[in-house]
Amino acid sequence: MKKVSRRSFIHDIGMGIGASATLLALPSFITNPLLNKKADPGKKLNVALCGLGNYATYHLAPGIIDSKYCRLAGIITGSEIKAKEWSTKYNIPDKNIYNYNNFDTISSNKDIDLVYVVLPNSMHKEFVIRSANAGKHVITEKPMAISAMDCEEMIAACKKAGVQLAVGYRLHYDPYNLEIKRFGQQKIFGQVRLIESSFGFKIGDPSQWRLKKKMAGGGPLMDVGIYCVNSTRYVLGEEPSSVTAEFGPISDPLLFSEVEESIRWQFDFPGGAISNSTSTYKANIERFYAAADNGFFEMSPAFSYSAYKGRSSKGEMYFAPINQQAAQMDGIAKIILEKKNLPVHITGEEGLKDIRIMNAIYEAASTGKKVYLK
Ligand code: NDP
Repeated sequence: MKKVSRRSFIHDIGMGIGASATLLALPSFITNPLLNKKADPGKKLNVALCGLGNYATYHLAPGIIDSKYCRLAGIITGSEIKAKEWSTKYNIPDKNIYNYNNFDTISSNKDIDLVYVVLPNSMHKEFVIRSANAGKHVITEKPMAISAMDCEEMIAACKKAGVQLAVGYRLHYDPYNLEIKRFGQQKIFGQVRLIESSFGFKIGDPSQWRLKKKMAGGGPLMDVGIYCVNSTRYVLGEEPSSVTAEFGPISDPLLFSEVEESIRWQFDFPGGAISNSTSTYKANIERFYAAADNGFFEMSPAFSYSAYKGRSSKGEMYFAPINQQAAQMDGIAKIILEKKNLPVHITGEEGLKDIRIMNAIYEAASTGKKVYLK
């Protein structure tokens, strides 16, 4: 398997840090060849992608094809043209192709185990609940939903149906991001005191759903700022105790009539750490920096799909590129195939935490007051 043979090493530029330390940061299913030998290569989770837009087409479908434990078994789409194209390209039988109206009949389809919801944010709730009611495990894309109440209903529906619910946090399977989590949580450079993290891009098409509040739930914070929120929590291993925030100025009132153009926020953490983040639809930026008692670590790019660059006060980080979506799909599928529970950091509970925190960021920005989180 490609992932087992991938080399990982560090180019020391400072005090020196061993390559073995970096390898420790890799998830066990990537590094442990015994685990991979134990797995039954014939056993695959049959996945149906729901919503065949950019992310499903250019990242998730190739990721599933590249995975070891998943099969692209079905699709749910509102487009007859896409249905035909995908059917031919991926050899998907007609009986595994659904539209948004006849989707519920998937309940009688034994050839689909899991539905991956890749629709606009406001539609995640409906399709997660319909998938659960049809007896299918579900992965939903980030952000999990557009309100905390929606997340709670999704979690409850999956629990009631006895199916597992995951959120597509692909960075939880990425070696670089796992490494900075190890640096932070294991205090490799001492206690982290300050994190700076930003993610933004220049938004294009003015008619897209990302600019419609009803469909997106918010602007860049909901879309990409969520990565800063999640990574900051993940690296510190702590939940923020309070937040202050401010919306940036609107330079394009037509484009940003419904959602924020940019937003910046600060977290305080119970252990004394602080963080500072910005998310924007006006500039291309993605970076993560952590200052700890005995050094620093940073990444830029930090959150997109590849070409990451990272270094610490002990040296550069280097991991061979992986297919993040394949790693994510295998990480989730292997656990479901083994009939074990997914680890909490990838479940709906984690998605709900991020939504609650982003709600608090919006409240702080709207009121100008510090918001305390429970
Ligand atoms: P797109 O707009 O490219 O695709 C969304 C798809 O949803 C459409 O192509 C369409 O598929 C379907 N759809 C159904 N109803 C509607 C509607 N009313 N308006 C628009 N689309 C509709 O979005 P993305 O693929 O970029 O994003 C989808 C989800 O994935 C979002 O939640 C986003 O946050 C998340 N995402 C996650 C990424 C990650 O790295 N984890 C990266 C990018 C996105 P069809 O024609 O088949 O019906």
